Amino acid sequence: MAASPRGSSPVPPDARPRLTVLSGPSGVGKSTVVAHMRKVHPEVWLSVSATTRKPRPGERHGVHYFFVDDEEFDKLVANGELLEWAEFAGNRYGTPRRAVLDRLEAGEPVLLEIDLQGARLVRESMPEAQLVFLAPPSWDELVRRLTGRGTEAPEVIERRLAAAKIELAAEAEFDTTLVNTSVEDVARELLALMKVA
Ligand code: 5GP
Repeated sequence: MAASPRGSSPVPPDARPRLTVLSGPSGVGKSTVVAHMRKVHPEVWLSVSATTRKPRPGERHGVHYFFVDDEEFDKLVANGELLEWAEFAGNRYGTPRRAVLDRLEAGEPVLLEIDLQGARLVRESMPEAQLVFLAPPSWDELVRRLTGRGTEAPEVIERRLAAAKIELAAEAEFDTTLVNTSVEDVARELLALMKVA
């Protein structure tokens, strides 16, 4: 089944949406979609977030995240270096402001992959941003993916599933929903929304 866009973007067809926010519950496959998209279009720039979470096996500092401790994160917040930040399942995550603004000023499309709270903050500070929600094909499938990832302890999975219920209820706040039935289809839809392909 193809990815099915639900709803329509308020951006006029001739305007070029520059800032796109991809959100959706933990485990839905946002990172997989983004990784696939960048394989096909390596020129698409994705913001690298700062986080206090510990790296998962294979995650690299400066590539997947900037892994920082609590004190460093406090400093980023205090110095106004984050465009938005949120606490998610016991860790803090934030988008470095400067890199995003530099890309936007250069007229390049920018993609943020962040949680619901962050998406709401971006909407407030940058109303022209395009908000895209990635939904799972079903709740059971989300549970299966989150559990099957095998990288999180049971209590962390519980916290993420509780957060997922809240995130799923917010789908209507987004401009567009893509249902993650196929990574290739969703990546293609996302590129089309970003007007990259
Ligand atoms: P994970 O720990 O699975 O990598 O990420 C947990 C959640 O934090 C995901 O929903 C992810 O999209 C979100 N996230 C990652 N970076 C940021 C960020 O910079 N800001 C916000 N608000 N959420 C983020």
